[in-house]
Amino acid sequence: ALTIGIVGLPNVGKSTLFNALTKNNVLAANYPFATIEPNVGVVPLPDSRLQTLAEIFGSERVLPATVSFVDIAGIVRGASEGEGLGNKFLANIREADAICQVVRAFHDDDVHHVEGKVSPKDDIETIHTELILADLQTLEKAVPRLEKEVKGKKTDKAVLDTALAAQKLLEEGETLYAAGAAAGVDMDLAKELGLLTTKPFLYVFNVDEDQLTDEALQKELSAMVAPADAIFLNAKLESELAELEEDEARELLESVGVSEPGLNQLAHKGFHTLGLQTYLTAGPKESRAWTIRKGWTAPQAAGVIHTDFQRGFIKAEIVSFDDLVEAGSMNAAKAAGKVRMEGKDYVMADGDVVEFRFNV
Ligand code: GDP
Repeated sequence: ALTIGIVGLPNVGKSTLFNALTKNNVLAANYPFATIEPNVGVVPLPDSRLQTLAEIFGSERVLPATVSFVDIAGIVRGASEGEGLGNKFLANIREADAICQVVRAFHDDDVHHVEGKVSPKDDIETIHTELILADLQTLEKAVPRLEKEVKGKKTDKAVLDTALAAQKLLEEGETLYAAGAAAGVDMDLAKELGLLTTKPFLYVFNVDEDQLTDEALQKELSAMVAPADAIFLNAKLESELAELEEDEARELLESVGVSEPGLNQLAHKGFHTLGLQTYLTAGPKESRAWTIRKGWTAPQAAGVIHTDFQRGFIKAEIVSFDDLVEAGSMNAAKAAGKVRMEGKDYVMADGDVVEFRFNV
């Protein structure tokens, strides 16, 4: 499964947030065969459509899609030079599919700030700088090698050009995710060069409780990281929420003026950042959301359930969630001509409710 690596300076609330992420033991119960690693937090992607499907089909249970987060400890100033847990940090981040930086915005004199003051902008830059330096090191080794290979006609010149264009941006202090595409860098080639800053970024601002409803502040912080996504939450509150029953949790949320836990937002935006989407299946046993990449075809989507479904794919019987709900039942949707038969070239849409036909 795709994972999002959580990074951040010391004392910004990473462990506190991660605790909240891993307290979701609902998942361990629903996915008994999943191995849950100690440094991996699996968060359900809230999806109210599943409850509706469960009512229509009389499903015994609902299974949401999930998003996995990996705790990547060890970034400090100098990590790219091997400071702290530098090398381990870089190896871990290489394996993540996206990078989520936790940024301290909360004020608390009892919690030491490693850089001496609360400054989201500086903290973001510190982390960016370490990742940029790591990429520049990678390129310093790669460029002379690529030059030789291009001369020997072993490598396409486009790869070298990408390396040089990336190097230029990085030297200007830009991450490739934020600035690469706009500057004409071939991002696929840049990814193949193993450059860390090509990974999608998102930012969690760990704010004071009274900042949870401070729209002006949130606008300012969002602008700082745009076009990447920003999430605002209070890590301490999230870890408290994770331990409460639903009713109590709702009361606590209301008392601070927000409508849903920050973790829900984190799951949604994380999912989006990874370029993922879901499709739905429903029946008496379960209503379930399945994770696919945007742009996947019906047979690829079928393969997520079982490789046999992909191999023996014949067609997919599909109704959009909204049409199904409007009709009230599968039979009514069929009678209304809302159920389509799609073939192997069909590109899945969000909200497709699917039944696959396949040969075994
Ligand atoms: P990490 O080093 O980034 O993993 O940070 P921790 O999660 O260990 O948090 C460092 C300290 O900040 C701990 O004492 C936490 O209780 C405290 N802390 C974490 N989140 C918040 C928050 O939202 N508000 C306040 N006031 N303190 C927090």
